[in-house]
Amino acid sequence: MNRLEELIRKLNFKKATLAYIVISGILLLLCLLSIAYVSRDKISMAIDYQRVSDTFVKEGVTDRLRTQLQKLASDSKDINNVVVLDKNNTIVFKTNNNLISDKTRLQLIPYGVGSGYLQDSSNPDQLYKVVKEENMILNKDYIPNDQQAWQAIEDELTYETDFNSKKVYLLNYLMDRSTQSKVLMIRTANPIPYAERLLEITGALLGLIMAIYWIGLALWVYKNAGRRKLNASLWGLLILITNLVGFIVYLIYKQNNRTCYKCGALQSRFNAFCSHCGTEIKESCDHCKAMISKEDNYCSRCGSKVDRFLGGNEK
Ligand SMILES: [Zn+2]
Ligand SMILES: [Zn+2]
Repeated sequence: MNRLEELIRKLNFKKATLAYIVISGILLLLCLLSIAYVSRDKISMAIDYQRVSDTFVKEGVTDRLRTQLQKLASDSKDINNVVVLDKNNTIVFKTNNNLISDKTRLQLIPYGVGSGYLQDSSNPDQLYKVVKEENMILNKDYIPNDQQAWQAIEDELTYETDFNSKKVYLLNYLMDRSTQSKVLMIRTANPIPYAERLLEITGALLGLIMAIYWIGLALWVYKNAGRRKLNASLWGLLILITNLVGFIVYLIYKQNNRTCYKCGALQSRFNAFCSHCGTEIKESCDHCKAMISKEDNYCSRCGSKVDRFLGGNEK
């Protein structure tokens, strides 16, 4: 216990706080960068898709759109196919032959009522889960074994017993209301490699940073209260239990009292002498006799300068 106290007394809190902020900032940044790095394919797919969407809305089915679709499909391992359909669901463009082989039409019909799934009318074993544009990157990409994500999918399909025999794809689609043409992006949700592990590491790091802050604040108050000749253990314990709440109480408590300029002990405002070292911490104004603090240069009641040489009380 004494060695610990010695350690706390020697600890430079300013330097430690600076090191703490810099190191945790760097580590957190590294975690975020690693997560962004392993997600780069999904992020670039989302950006490419946004670009495709803009072109489709502004220009319709043009050469530029076809080039962008080809790039979208070739850049991402997740994408099985990108298909453009006209208003009769005739395939007018496809990036490859996956899933549709040599079909000339692709008609998707709702699968069940309000299930959010579509079914290929000519191939009932292929289901398409409609995904909104903002859900381009799914939680499931990061947490492949997330029970909740799977439960949600299973709940939607409990009424259908032969779901296991079907292959499910994710479908993002764009539709032009005037021409009724559609762009369908069909993909498979492939978990991002290492993403789950990286999220775990980031979570553990955040926990550690929080713990160091929590304990560090208690240690600082412990040291500070010790210097003010207060019950350091009690204040330290209070901060350890209540953290910020106790810290605010400590600051208010300090504000409402005064510090002996000689020994640093926290004293009641009304004390004329320090109860710890006996130093006189209050004196009276030569002009109005009001009580003034030992450190005051001017009287707070009459404003006259405190003449320490005349008063014989010079520091
Ligand atoms: Zn004192
Ligand atoms: Zn005065």
